[in-house]
Amino acid sequence: MKKIIYIQRIGDVDPGILIVLKKNLKRFFKKYNIKVVILPDQLPILDSEHDSEERKYDAIQVKKRLVTHGKNKNYYRILGVTNIDILTKASKFLYGVADLPKNKSFGGALISVIRLREEFYRLTENSAIFEQRVLKEAIHELGHTFGLKHCENLCVMRASNSLVDTDRKPPKFCEDCAYRIDIFIDNSE
Ligand SMILES: [Zn+2]
Ligand SMILES: [Zn+2]
Repeated sequence: MKKIIYIQRIGDVDPGILIVLKKNLKRFFKKYNIKVVILPDQLPILDSEHDSEERKYDAIQVKKRLVTHGKNKNYYRILGVTNIDILTKASKFLYGVADLPKNKSFGGALISVIRLREEFYRLTENSAIFEQRVLKEAIHELGHTFGLKHCENLCVMRASNSLVDTDRKPPKFCEDCAYRIDIFIDNSE
């Protein structure tokens, strides 16, 4: 199986975000021989996944649909990118969600970029900060699909409960996580 991360937009997402993310992910995953491709199509946003009280979408349901889509297409990894606000029963909001993989040949991850923008908090737009946040959250969620759990080190696998956490962590794995993902990916040949 070809190692490709497919970027799948869910609903309307500015193509510019995806192009920058693709470039950054490509650079990051190059050493693992993993390619990155932006899918031309778009998965719809479903009303049935909308929580009208919270005015957000159910992250678990959206992710489930994404995972089913990725599995049906026989993808190696699928990264859903959306601009809708997402939540779970446990979290009022989140930047992303992913499962630990059931097997090495498939994994699905979802990120929501809406809360990564400075404008969301009525601050001045800053595309450099925004792009770094998108990259960190994407690597983090993809990291879960490669078997990585949360990490306490100065590491992209650190949990983010706020943007302060996201901004503090580097867009890379600590030594421990780098070691684990090396083993995980090598064994998947
Ligand atoms: Zn996480
Ligand atoms: Zn780590």
